[in-house]
Amino acid sequence: MNQKIWLSSPHMGDKELDYVQEAFATNWIAPLGPHVNGFEQDLRHFLQEDVEVAALSSGTAALHLALVILGVQAGDEVICQSMTFAASANPIVYLGATPVFVDSEETTWNMCPQFLELAICDRIRLGKKPKAIIVVHLYGMPAQIDEIMRIARRYKIPVIEDAAEALGSTFEGRQVGTFGDISIFSFNGNKIITTSGGGALISANVEYVRKARFLATQALDPAPHYQHSQIGYNYRMSNICAGIGRGQMEVLPQRIFQRRSNFHFYEQAFSHIPEIQCAREPADDYYSNHWLTVVLIEAGPFTREDIRLALTADNIDCRPLWKPMHLQPVFEAAPYYGYDTCQQLFEKGLCLPSGSNLTGDELNRVVARIYETIASKRTSEDLTVNTIN
Ligand SMILES: *Cc1c(COP(=O)(O)O)cnc(C)c1O
Repeated sequence: MNQKIWLSSPHMGDKELDYVQEAFATNWIAPLGPHVNGFEQDLRHFLQEDVEVAALSSGTAALHLALVILGVQAGDEVICQSMTFAASANPIVYLGATPVFVDSEETTWNMCPQFLELAICDRIRLGKKPKAIIVVHLYGMPAQIDEIMRIARRYKIPVIEDAAEALGSTFEGRQVGTFGDISIFSFNGNKIITTSGGGALISANVEYVRKARFLATQALDPAPHYQHSQIGYNYRMSNICAGIGRGQMEVLPQRIFQRRSNFHFYEQAFSHIPEIQCAREPADDYYSNHWLTVVLIEAGPFTREDIRLALTADNIDCRPLWKPMHLQPVFEAAPYYGYDTCQQLFEKGLCLPSGSNLTGDELNRVVARIYETIASKRTSEDLTVNTIN
């Protein structure tokens, strides 16, 4: 068996272990400490906007707190992009609220502004104004965030930006994760940088971030004893994980460069294959970190499944795109606004190995395997045609 090529594996720099050792040496082995504060500062500095940051235990925890802070309660409705990872939508259900799913548009594959507005108007007509909108920057590609913010402002509905996959992506030169009323990042093991597991909540509203820190540490009221007037959570980031994060922040610009280089390599490799299209930025305003390189494979002599099965057989990790939430058994009953854009993307799309630590040999092996698969299918196609003649 050939050596495994991963879809997106952790990629440590030189400094992470030093920070972790410092945490041990100073006995800051806790869900608070100087690295947590330092990591929050590093993120704030990177985002280059007037925002506050709370480092948390995961991106999912950050989304959960964002919804709590925006006042989402049982029986409420929250609009969410359908094509995303389940973690974008699950926290809505943790609170007893109902997700209302919206289709993607074809240029960024993220939330379609037209269907968003349709969904808002229809929910209002039915007597329930949505409490929040969750928009995702999938695979690092910025959504049409200007248009989405305009619509959200028009109806006075707060926006949560799920930027879990998009740290370092920009729209009109501004970092994603700084547009929404609240934004979140993830530092799970597969993301562009990792703290092994972790997340962050971002907001320009200082009060929201103060609330997030309060709720994430069991909602302790200021009192000498343990007093609680609200339900809290244990969602803060560990000082050890934050130490890894501090090291990772030092190499983030390199990681973005490396992921984008993977994308350019694949784009070049498939430039002469009309059936394979790499998902690229639709205009100059958009800058993707290309967390994952994603291709669409149009039906022809070979299919997405032919490529996926051939890569998998060769121990190369690849995945179909996120299966839309409105097609998931668990969300069957949730309302959906859209056509079949996200379903089409799901059926045709494939995520290719995209780690920042992939070697040239590994990238070449992925492409060689795809070329071979195409060649074998084209030959059999030709033979079929010949036989009919
Ligand atoms: C990874 C991810 C999350 C969840 O982040 P965790 O840190 O794994 O909890 C949420 N949304 C999207 C789009 C993600 O890719």
